[in-house]
Amino acid sequence: MNRGAVAEINLSAIAYNLQSVRKIVKNRPVIAVVKADAYGHGAVEVSKKLFEEKVSFLAVAFTGEAIELREAGIKSPIIVLFDTGYIKEFFDFKLIPVIYNVDTASSLSAEAKKKNIIIKVHVKIDTGMGRLGLSGNHIVNDLIKISEMEGIELAGLLSHFSEADLSDRSYAVLQLKRFNKIRETISKILKRKIFSHIANSAAVLTFEDAHLDAVRPGLMLYGYSPINQKSEVFPPTELRTTSPELINLMPAMKVKTKILCIRNVPSGTPISYGRTFITKRPSRIGVLPLGYADGYSRFFSNNAEVLVEGRRVPVVGRICMDLTMIDLTDVKGVKENDEIVIMGKQGDESITAQELAYKANTIPYEILTSLGNKSKRIYVETH
Ligand SMILES: *Cc1c(COP(=O)(O)O)cnc(C)c1O
Repeated sequence: MNRGAVAEINLSAIAYNLQSVRKIVKNRPVIAVVKADAYGHGAVEVSKKLFEEKVSFLAVAFTGEAIELREAGIKSPIIVLFDTGYIKEFFDFKLIPVIYNVDTASSLSAEAKKKNIIIKVHVKIDTGMGRLGLSGNHIVNDLIKISEMEGIELAGLLSHFSEADLSDRSYAVLQLKRFNKIRETISKILKRKIFSHIANSAAVLTFEDAHLDAVRPGLMLYGYSPINQKSEVFPPTELRTTSPELINLMPAMKVKTKILCIRNVPSGTPISYGRTFITKRPSRIGVLPLGYADGYSRFFSNNAEVLVEGRRVPVVGRICMDLTMIDLTDVKGVKENDEIVIMGKQGDESITAQELAYKANTIPYEILTSLGNKSKRIYVETH
């Protein structure tokens, strides 16, 4: 038996979610965010599917991720969101860099002149995220400088919301206002409109004014909404009944494993490190071959459920590095090697990334990347 879990990725779900995004944004171009190995779903496979579905752009965080996609034969335009140090690679692999200072533009311009070609760039504006982007009172001047450089085409403007769940909408409104002001000023000066994008998943779902010329969703494509993921708005009992179908999203990742060993133990038996769980009755304890080293958070100790035979059973005791214990006493007929679902559907029950995120005091993004990037991935297409 191998360690860890298997992440089964349903590529049809990703295509379906892309269609849902397109419906919401009235067929504006979609820039599909596939950073961090497509949020744990596998960037190459996911991007191949998105390319087939004619997505307008893919976006990755770093140049290395973009090169991996090019080497896998993916022809979509690729936007590199964060790193700007690989001037030669931007040309060699036909990538669209997001730049956020004039120096990078100069280096690109020099290389473009040498090669006698024109490179498209998107320029990032910091409207309040406080991370990357042109900021301060010289933004418009910088944009003019960049637009005048030989070999450079100012092909896009972007910014990013600091509220990934738009729980404080007023700040997003302010950010959009700042962004629009810059767009208007620069388009007046250059006498042309510049392709602009700012909308993450939350804005796609709930902030129509921010849809602009294209949208840039990540999480939604993988089947989850970032809205209302805060614990006080979303207690676990509600999580169980919240149907993702309501917003027409289909979770694309299912994480499963097999029972390594089943032990019958008497009442009063302590389970796992620190003896935080002691059986209160003669029990059947299942041991699973995954732990926190496989992205199954230690926060799930005595605090999560898994599915077996379509039923929820509790995790008992502390999560170990490579092992997790579950209480199988109430399920009849389970045997070693039977399938256990850590996240996803089994029968009529399902465990979502949102539920796990709530229990681990984090967000679905971290659950997907932790489990997805550490599991062995397999791909299916089921409609
Ligand atoms: C990750 C990211 C997105 C996508 O955000 P979601 O909340 O997953 O939709 C969009 N733009 C940038 C710059 C990002 O870093």
